[in-house]
Amino acid sequence: MLLFTHPAMLAHAPPPGHPERPARLEAVLRGLEPLGLPVRDAPLATRAQVERVHPRGLVDAMEEAFPKPGEGLAALDADTFLSDGTREAAWRAAGAVVAAVDAVTAGEDAQAFCAVRPPGHHAEPAQPMGFCIFNNVAVGALHALEAHGLARVAVIDFDVHHGNGTQATAQKDPRLFFASTHQSPLYPGTGLAHERGPAGNILNAPLPPGAGSAEWRAAMEREVLPALHDFAPEMIFVSAGFDAHEADPLAQMRLTDADYAWAGERLSAAALSLCAGKIVSTLEGGYDLGALTRSTQAYAGALTRA
Ligand SMILES: [Zn+2]
Repeated sequence: MLLFTHPAMLAHAPPPGHPERPARLEAVLRGLEPLGLPVRDAPLATRAQVERVHPRGLVDAMEEAFPKPGEGLAALDADTFLSDGTREAAWRAAGAVVAAVDAVTAGEDAQAFCAVRPPGHHAEPAQPMGFCIFNNVAVGALHALEAHGLARVAVIDFDVHHGNGTQATAQKDPRLFFASTHQSPLYPGTGLAHERGPAGNILNAPLPPGAGSAEWRAAMEREVLPALHDFAPEMIFVSAGFDAHEADPLAQMRLTDADYAWAGERLSAAALSLCAGKIVSTLEGGYDLGALTRSTQAYAGALTRA
């Protein structure tokens, strides 16, 4: 497994007390360290790569909105902040997933983990939100389809929040399968089971607050993994958020470290049978630092043992 990250992503600095803080990235890297993964610098995405997901007008507006060095914080909404380090972090977060796709396609390794922030799965094509600026995983998925000629790719999202932005991209592109397990009700309020998309390429498995291993594993076994097999993707992306952990302060699900190891085992088994083991995972949420370290290690460790 290759690890794509960059220290510039530590310089995206929401206001003190904000849960999506630089220490999260350090916690993830601590968890991955014992695995000894080869580390690659996450490059800046290009405009053309980001504009496969986000309209030019939105990218122009963001380039205007990013604070210049020495300028103070800007707020896009009540949750989503821009510091003078955000611009480089956001372009590298998207670039990490693009570079991971290139490396996996080139056969350098079947697996990549992108340790990035800001996260991406709430960013809709024309609306950054929910701590997210660019939809990193969607940029990577469309890169696989457009630049490498893949016919079908899948995004599995086990973050505790619904990946509304990724779903919005899949809604318009039947080559992209999107499946999400998440707590409902919870921010952003989307991801109801009846949301399947006009082409039927969307699967939502909402779970109630308090749901734990048994409920979540059942949703993965009975809904997500069978639908993933039916879709037969040529590459699997994982929006790896670790905020369904029982220790997480932003939600009320009750997953444990062992559940993330299980996810790694099951997803790598699926990838081996479907697409020569090709899995590109990218960090989304996860706000308890200890749980984030342990869960990332459990998940990535299980993937690499496959
Ligand atoms: Zn989340």
